[in-house]
Amino acid sequence: MNLDATAVTEVEGVGSKRAKDLASLGIHSVADLFAYFPYRYEDFRLADLTEAAHDEKITLQGTLFGTPSTRWYGKKKSRLTCRMQVQGVTVSLVWFNQHFLKNKLMPGQTITVHGKWDAHRLQMNVERVFLSAEEQQRQIGRLEPVYSVNASVTVSWLRKTIAQAFRQFGGEIQECLPQALLTRYKLMERARAMMLLHFPKGWEEGRQARRRMVYEELFLYELKLMWRRRLEKTETAGIAHSIDHQRLDAFIADLPFPLTAAQRRVVDEILMDMEEPERMIRLLQGDVGSGKTVVAAIALYANHLGGYQGALMVPTEILAEQHLHSLKGLLEPRGLRVIGLTGGMKAKERREAMGQLQMGLADVVVGTHALIQEAVTYRNLGLVITDEQHRFGVKQRGLLREKGQNPDVLYMTATPIPRTMAITAYGDMDVSTIDELPAGRLPVETYWVKQDVWPRVIQFIQKQCQEKRQAYVICPLIEESEKVDLQNAQSVFEEIAQELAPTRVGLLHGKMAAAEKDEVMRSYAANEVQVLVSTTVVEVGVNVPNATVMVVYDADRFGLAQLHQLRGRVGRGSGASTCILVANPASETGVERMRVMTETTDGFEIARRDLELRGPGDFFGVRQSGTPEFKVADLMEDQKVLEVARADAQLLVKSDVLWEKEEYTPLRRWLQAFENAASIVD
Ligand code: ADP
Ligand code: MG
Repeated sequence: MNLDATAVTEVEGVGSKRAKDLASLGIHSVADLFAYFPYRYEDFRLADLTEAAHDEKITLQGTLFGTPSTRWYGKKKSRLTCRMQVQGVTVSLVWFNQHFLKNKLMPGQTITVHGKWDAHRLQMNVERVFLSAEEQQRQIGRLEPVYSVNASVTVSWLRKTIAQAFRQFGGEIQECLPQALLTRYKLMERARAMMLLHFPKGWEEGRQARRRMVYEELFLYELKLMWRRRLEKTETAGIAHSIDHQRLDAFIADLPFPLTAAQRRVVDEILMDMEEPERMIRLLQGDVGSGKTVVAAIALYANHLGGYQGALMVPTEILAEQHLHSLKGLLEPRGLRVIGLTGGMKAKERREAMGQLQMGLADVVVGTHALIQEAVTYRNLGLVITDEQHRFGVKQRGLLREKGQNPDVLYMTATPIPRTMAITAYGDMDVSTIDELPAGRLPVETYWVKQDVWPRVIQFIQKQCQEKRQAYVICPLIEESEKVDLQNAQSVFEEIAQELAPTRVGLLHGKMAAAEKDEVMRSYAANEVQVLVSTTVVEVGVNVPNATVMVVYDADRFGLAQLHQLRGRVGRGSGASTCILVANPASETGVERMRVMTETTDGFEIARRDLELRGPGDFFGVRQSGTPEFKVADLMEDQKVLEVARADAQLLVKSDVLWEKEEYTPLRRWLQAFENAASIVD
């Protein structure tokens, strides 16, 4: 019997009206009903009074004494109180608006109550009462599931319905994991785990049931990712780049600095992938300033040595310009032709650039999303790199890949994400991590100040400029806005330019024309302008190593990831750098963000704190979707299980048992169904 195809109306007591109610919770089939797990349990085990915590819900059994009394507040509201002897202690029980109970509470009677415990007053706000011996016996010790419901479904009805569904269809629940895995991890059977997750007899059993379902959920998820990856790799043969290592090593030796050990390691990982006939799909993670650009340059050069064109895609024009400049510096002396292609270029320039790509007259192209527009064709694209990958939508990921004969793909990102997040969001990729900054970098000193010390901030900037250093001042808005009382770049620029004269101050924001922006950035990079007042257009990737001061105005307006990126614009050279966050936070989270920023400069730690503040659902924001919603698993809590499940899935996809052994049939079917569905969706 296929429970996915069995409608809830097959469950006794569920008619078409009830089916509609269930549908409002996303429950359509009996399988959905079984998979609608409780998010917590009401605990009806008897509490030990000496250990009962204040404000917790507990269950007590005791003997009533004295007479109950009712007090009325107006005609409708009442408060019923009664005393009870529990473990030698007198506690008072309180019921609101349940005066009718008064006649049922007899002195000397033993009853069981459940509700919120006030440990200071020795008083319980009773929510549930069990009077008869039979009722008490049935209820004590139970863990009652609590479900998330809405106005049309009550928890108690859902509980009953799920119990009924188990009576009718519980026997039809199929195992999906192979025996080998069940044995290895001592996992309970699927049918039993599902039943116990709804109706555990004790905490330990509930825990075991959950453990089983968490593993299943994460394993199936990982298996799907690995499978997709395998399809992608086998269906579309990649390029086996032939790399001239002698020339490549000479190139690396000629760089202005030696690579860090971490850079060397990721370069090797990338080169190895490129030489394989399988297609490379790799994520390069590295904190701000860890030196990803040069890794990209090395990969692009290696790709060129094998005879292919390469593309580097970036999210902003400013970044495109910067990378174009540095790649030209590194690659043109080696005879490569490096060109740019952005939306801001004049039509004639664009046509020219596109022509060069099509004819193979250009070896490397650096550009914005203009690179993935349909009209752009390449003669032989062998490697595609995207920088600041988190800035691109998931869809755009795929588009550039399709431009060549399945070019190798390298995604670079500075947004440090905890490993579990990386695995789930980028699980279909290999991951390389640069976990080391170039030698001699000093951590950026970070201060949080209130707005009233602004004059001192200006003095500080002035002093730094006198020492030939440069500064950024970031403001949230471009122009005066009547509604929001935030500092805007335009007026801060005017103010600072006046106060700092003759120090030269520049202004940069997203509404400026491309050529204007380029000119401002160029003069800032050349230290012709010492202070750059800007909106967040410099947030990602911008590299001016001589800049050592980062001032962020209204810093509480920015998220942690953004602040970390902004701070990453300084501390890129050997000079000591300072970040000043100017903020009078209006909210508790605003304060907390300022605290996190002053406490640590470690991007991974910041990502972790960010995750705590925001919760995983929101972690990637709107830009980066693709984090799955799990029913039972919790990415923070179940990190270890995820790692294990991933390794198991990886192994299984590569082995033959999946195709040969009987016990793998359910998984095989499941993957095939997924494969069919995938070809329709993509
Ligand atoms: P990100 O990883 O943030 O993109 P970049 O690639 O922009 O970092 O590098 C930041 C700065 O560090 C650049 O000025 C770059 O020249 C420099 N850099 C990169 N690698 C090294 C290294 N191994 N030793 C010294 N400086 C380096
Ligand atoms: Mg970068």
